[in-house]
Amino acid sequence: MSRVAIIGAGMAGIACARRLAEAGHAPVLVDKGRGIGGRVATRRAAGLHFDHGAQYVSAKSAEFEALMDGLIDSGAAADWQDGAERRHIVGAPGMSAIPKALAADLDVRQGVQVSQVAQVDGGWRLTWDGGGMEAAHVVLTVPAPQVAGLIGADHDLVRQIGHVRLAPCLTLMAAITGPAPFASRRDPDGALASIIADSSKPGRPEAEATAWTAQASPEFSTQCLEETPERMVELMVPLLLDALGAAPDRVSHAAAHRWRYARVTQALEAPFAKTPDGTLYLGGDWCIGARVEAAWQSGSAIAEDLLERLT
Ligand SMILES: Cc1cc2nc3c(=O)[nH]c(=O)nc-3n(C[C@H](O)[C@H](O)[C@H](O)COP(=O)(O)OP(=O)(O)OC[C@H]3O[C@@H](n4cnc5c(N)ncnc54)[C@H](O)[C@@H]3O)c2cc1C
Repeated sequence: MSRVAIIGAGMAGIACARRLAEAGHAPVLVDKGRGIGGRVATRRAAGLHFDHGAQYVSAKSAEFEALMDGLIDSGAAADWQDGAERRHIVGAPGMSAIPKALAADLDVRQGVQVSQVAQVDGGWRLTWDGGGMEAAHVVLTVPAPQVAGLIGADHDLVRQIGHVRLAPCLTLMAAITGPAPFASRRDPDGALASIIADSSKPGRPEAEATAWTAQASPEFSTQCLEETPERMVELMVPLLLDALGAAPDRVSHAAAHRWRYARVTQALEAPFAKTPDGTLYLGGDWCIGARVEAAWQSGSAIAEDLLERLT
């Protein structure tokens, strides 16, 4: 039996695993995704890099800023001069470079979708299609609404986190020939709440087309959540072209991604939740707020709490 299994190799899971590994433990991270990083993600298409999840990282705490500065020194991240007052740090050559670099020395098992987490003698059993594992301590960093599906809707922890809410976000990735008229633009009242020229970020490939990412508003995303990706493209491309003043024949690639649980709108307001015996922890951005740094802080706080039990 492993001592610690962490479900989710997003920023919360990686933060937790790194801290435990620093203290001499060997946590096992499992993630259903093909890549590492969860909502800090980059898709490569048409010779371009699209950051279809988090657009940038900003740091409120000195610790997190120092971590990001370390990534900048190693070349995995860079400052993005997008005209914002606050420092915006991006992965290079894509946002996913940040979690990849941070998880480089960790034991991450990708493509493993856990279907159940059940208590057994001395710990917990994780089950997935064609396999499973047991661990004395389990850390779940999946979005709050997905916890019940793993530990059961009648579990006490599910009741404790019942008030947490995350809004969806539909993201359009489009390659449009010609230079970018702006690096990023926000329109909180529009159907496309945020439009970003990913090509304006440092370390991106040089190309004739600009890589654009457009994030639909929570209202638009909720309304169109169950549309097919093809239909999402049909609905969102005209909105993007309109915002850019571009003609349809300049679109050389377009795809859409559905984030069912994208942005925290009601947080737990505690860094994590756990069972009284400290064998099962729940964490993620949704504990603190809708930011990469919040996910990192939640995962780190779980690790500190666990270390008191493990040592
Ligand atoms: C469109 C969008 C734009 C954003 N923009 C920004 C931004 O500009 N700046 C910012 O700071 N934040 C931004 N955010 C928020 C930021 O991405 C998140 O706060 C942060 O990445 C959350 O990290 P996490 O580890 O808590 O969760 P996640 O990244 O969601 O990680 C959870 C992981 O669990 C895995 N998982 C889920 N279920 C299972 C299962 N059953 N079995 C195995 N694995 C499972 C998932 O694959 C995932 O990798 C944005 C988010 C979105 C979606």
